[in-house]
Amino acid sequence: MKKDNDILLQGLIGEDMAVYACDISRLVEEIRQTHDASPIATIILGRALAAAVMMCATLKNDTDRLTLMINGGGPVGNIIVVGNAELEMKAYVGDPGVDVPPGDKPGFNIAGAVGTDGFVTVSKDLGLREPYVGRTPLVSGEIGEDIAAYYLQSEQQPSVVFVNTWLETDMSVINAGGITIKPMPGCSEEMLTEIENRIGEISNFPMYLMSEDIDKVMDRIFAGMDLTILERRQPRLVCDCSKERFAGVLATLGPEELTKMIEEDGGTEIVCSFCNKKYNFDAGELEEIRSHASAPEQPSAGTEGEPNGG
Ligand SMILES: [Zn+2]
Repeated sequence: MKKDNDILLQGLIGEDMAVYACDISRLVEEIRQTHDASPIATIILGRALAAAVMMCATLKNDTDRLTLMINGGGPVGNIIVVGNAELEMKAYVGDPGVDVPPGDKPGFNIAGAVGTDGFVTVSKDLGLREPYVGRTPLVSGEIGEDIAAYYLQSEQQPSVVFVNTWLETDMSVINAGGITIKPMPGCSEEMLTEIENRIGEISNFPMYLMSEDIDKVMDRIFAGMDLTILERRQPRLVCDCSKERFAGVLATLGPEELTKMIEEDGGTEIVCSFCNKKYNFDAGELEEIRSHASAPEQPSAGTEGEPNGG
């Protein structure tokens, strides 16, 4: 089905449960192309992005940011998704070309690529002095189950999370999305039982997006329940990298490393992990960065031969 736009829905079932649902098919296809991602890496990015978009939907203030990191020790390496309250998202995986042989389950071996020996870490920068950081062990490496375990253990919220991505035969993205259901305080037993009874249908949510638009899918899986959609928003891929920011990163390498780059390579190129944009720094620019990097904080050590910081 041709999708017009990516969308996040936020709603309520009665006064018992909060529901977040997203269709991010276009966004995941965009990131697949940016990273020239393998099928397995695309599915991993799609699942992690869907989970993170629904987490970001809970952020309250414009300046709030969230980082979801999954590292299971598998060949895909670190999975990093960063987003904000505006649903401006960016993501990367350590090895976007990752491929692993099939596992026990049919289809792509996602858990084999993610690994299970590691953690889900969620860091929320809510403008307070310290970010809020929650971390829980991975349970399956399939991402959806790992995020559900995170909500239960770290945020004491027993939640339902299903995220998935499907690929075309040419390995482009057909559809990507997910659903998160969180019982609210005082949620009735009847409602919990009702959701439990429908869990099979709910687990099909990402797959239903392949042939129906998100509103129809919501109506179908919550048929007969008191579903209210409160918000509709559009998640987007946005990278906030800049030459200035990378200059700041280079400065943290310290004068010695910078001198090496200047003398041995006559400059350096930095590639943004999130958007693949390249930034070139020539020797003159590195010298400029070095003059600041070695300025007041390290006044004496190894300053011989330094250019004037002026
Ligand atoms: Zn970037």
